[in-house]
Amino acid sequence: MDIVAHMDASDRLFSRIDAKRDDLIALTQDLVRIPTLNPPGENYLEICEYLRRRLVKHGFEAQLVRGEGTPGDSDRFPRWNVVARREGINPGECVHFNSHIDVVEVGKGWTTDPFGAEIKDGRIYGRGTCDMKGGLAASIIAAEAFIEEFTDFAGSIEISGTADEETGGFGGVAYLAEQGHYKHVDHVIIPEPLQKDRICLGHRGVWWAEIETHGEIAHGSMPFLGDCAVRHMGAVLAEMEGSLYPALAAKHTDMPVVPEGARQSTMNINSLHGGQTEPDADFTGFPSACVPDSARMVIDRRFLIEESLDEVRGEVAALLEKVKSERENFRYDIRELWNVLPTMTEKDAAVVASVAQSIQQVLGKTPEYVVSPGTYDQKHIDRIGRLKNCIAYGPGLLELAHKPDEYIEIGDMIDSAKVMGLSLMDLLLEQGTRV
Ligand SMILES: [Zn+2]
Repeated sequence: MDIVAHMDASDRLFSRIDAKRDDLIALTQDLVRIPTLNPPGENYLEICEYLRRRLVKHGFEAQLVRGEGTPGDSDRFPRWNVVARREGINPGECVHFNSHIDVVEVGKGWTTDPFGAEIKDGRIYGRGTCDMKGGLAASIIAAEAFIEEFTDFAGSIEISGTADEETGGFGGVAYLAEQGHYKHVDHVIIPEPLQKDRICLGHRGVWWAEIETHGEIAHGSMPFLGDCAVRHMGAVLAEMEGSLYPALAAKHTDMPVVPEGARQSTMNINSLHGGQTEPDADFTGFPSACVPDSARMVIDRRFLIEESLDEVRGEVAALLEKVKSERENFRYDIRELWNVLPTMTEKDAAVVASVAQSIQQVLGKTPEYVVSPGTYDQKHIDRIGRLKNCIAYGPGLLELAHKPDEYIEIGDMIDSAKVMGLSLMDLLLEQGTRV
């Protein structure tokens, strides 16, 4: 295809996508109106059945896969996923769009119905519009328009709707990856709300651990007869403030993480519990007088591609040993809860180059390359699926995710559908005819 032919072909694709505007809106609304709250993981079967019916009508073969035995999976809340595949007329590469179907809790502060999918000023409002049912709908419209326009494409297109991303993705992408569902896949696009003119190459690493300090219980009027685990934990906190936090702030990365505050190592103290557990809300009495014999802290450390997991573990281990050497009776345990290695797809990977070129053509600007401060399902595709050619690209503003009055701009969905459709042209129309 020469340049003129390519421009004509892409214009035809764009017209098709524009003509599907009402379909795109209705599809997004339908998806938002199925409340797939996670936890606990509601209505996964319903949304997967809906997607299967939709995609089968457009020539896909689709199957439902239950992440049986994965965290949270039960007969009441089964972890269903849908995987749909459309073959081209000739063998070739496989482009896979993966979206998570779950949404987080609603929370307070809404002025619109969270599951009403109301349209106002060119936006659709509701929980999951931005994160990420709008992206899922845009990828479906892109694929359907592409298939209608280029009936002779080579290779295959896959669309998956997967469970549990918001709680780690174990019953979703991790399960599919373990079952070998990504083995034949060449390119993955995850339409998370990273903004229509940005390409997300990967994410920082994660290390969660629980530190427990031990003491000895005694009567609170005679604390000298016991040993206060909370004071021991106080010493850990002081050491963190004094040495660890400044050290983390000094570690900068070349990863283009957004927002910029996350372009360094960070650590959140996720929770801190010491002494008696808090009573139920309906208990109105006082606590008893006891010296706490245990304090537990959960830390959430996010690390950089320049750091190793051993280094991250080692600095906390060294800190605890330092406190131990300086403090009498200091006893502790540390338990690692989970970890994810940082990942970053190369800028010259085929899917990155293709989406970058498509953004340039649709939006008339050079894309911004970003890295996510937190992880998403790319971690499983990378680690279990062993596939490096993966990005997150989709409509919506990341800042709106998980917030009240979450919305997606209809115009952004259309634009990103064009970018995705154009990338399919680049990746799946016969090599010889590529521009
Ligand atoms: Zn998401």
